[in-house]
Amino acid sequence: MTYEGRDIPALRVGVHPTNSEKPSSPRKTIIVAGGSHAREWISTSSINYVAYSFITAYGRDKTITKLLEKFDWIFIPTLNPDGYVYTWETDRLWRKNRQQTALRFCKGVDLDRSYGFEWDSDSTKSNPCSESFAGEHPFEGVEAQRFANWVRNETKNNNAEFVGFLDFHSYSQQVLYPYSYSCTSAPPSLENLEELAIGLAKAIRVTNGEIYGVTSACEGSVAIPRAKDCQPRQEKSKDEKKLWPRMETGGGSALDWFYHELRVSYAYQIKLRDTGSYGFLLPSKNIVPTGKEAFSAVQYFGQFLLGNKGIEKSEPGVNEAAELSKPEVVKKEEKEEWALVEKEQVEDIDANRSADFELRRRRRR
Ligand SMILES: [Zn+2]
Repeated sequence: MTYEGRDIPALRVGVHPTNSEKPSSPRKTIIVAGGSHAREWISTSSINYVAYSFITAYGRDKTITKLLEKFDWIFIPTLNPDGYVYTWETDRLWRKNRQQTALRFCKGVDLDRSYGFEWDSDSTKSNPCSESFAGEHPFEGVEAQRFANWVRNETKNNNAEFVGFLDFHSYSQQVLYPYSYSCTSAPPSLENLEELAIGLAKAIRVTNGEIYGVTSACEGSVAIPRAKDCQPRQEKSKDEKKLWPRMETGGGSALDWFYHELRVSYAYQIKLRDTGSYGFLLPSKNIVPTGKEAFSAVQYFGQFLLGNKGIEKSEPGVNEAAELSKPEVVKKEEKEEWALVEKEQVEDIDANRSADFELRRRRRR
């Protein structure tokens, strides 16, 4: 329920094993959320697109069917319905929620700065009129608090184990990993986070050719005025960086809270189209292509979690995700190698052994 009394709609999808006599182990659950910033409409439409694609592909698409059997998926198209309604009715570029602050004429708390991990209001404490007002204490943002409570309750009382969190925003075309509050402390699983982030960006790129940058959220959480500035941040000097005002996450982000407080191994914030030409006022012809990009990313995310680097290390068939992501060319090369071995087999058994060994070594790489 929101500050103004609206429901926060969410959809849980998953196929559970039936007739199981064993007490069921915690259900691995992935959250796909968006719309915590009201004006980022493309995040809301994209999550609807992803949810629709998952549901309609069940039973027809092998990968999606498996992902629905292995995980519960929770789709939340808008975490901030009050703000969303306000962007439709009054102010298209509204960002925060709509709760009352200490200042009568300045409503709203920035929900993505409300979470309780490394909450930091230094820059906006005295100014509820700021677009990024973090509130006066952690979890003052009503919808952030209720979402976090709900997640905690699911973990404690409803047998859910949250293993993935994807928070969709816009704009700037970036895949961002923790932490957002600071660039000086590196997350413990940095390498894994980076590896999957690069995979997500690639999954998006092969969909429609759109380039998404990959960086830490602390680097990505700056306002980007023009498209040409949307380059990887590390190319800029520190002095240059300071010139950008912090607009997105920073301290108290959902990203950091899920990663650190809830121990979700793979948490990302994905900023969708575009890179600044239209910004939040993205033309509607982008809705479907951006939805497809998001769908590719979410699908890749699920496959990765089923694979080697994911959470089900002990399961058979762990290499599946890796296999699926291999380009077709590589598979052809492997077939040719097999053929080569067969020829050698006829000629010389010893040579075959060494060739076979060589082949196996090559295949393992
Ligand atoms: Zn946002």
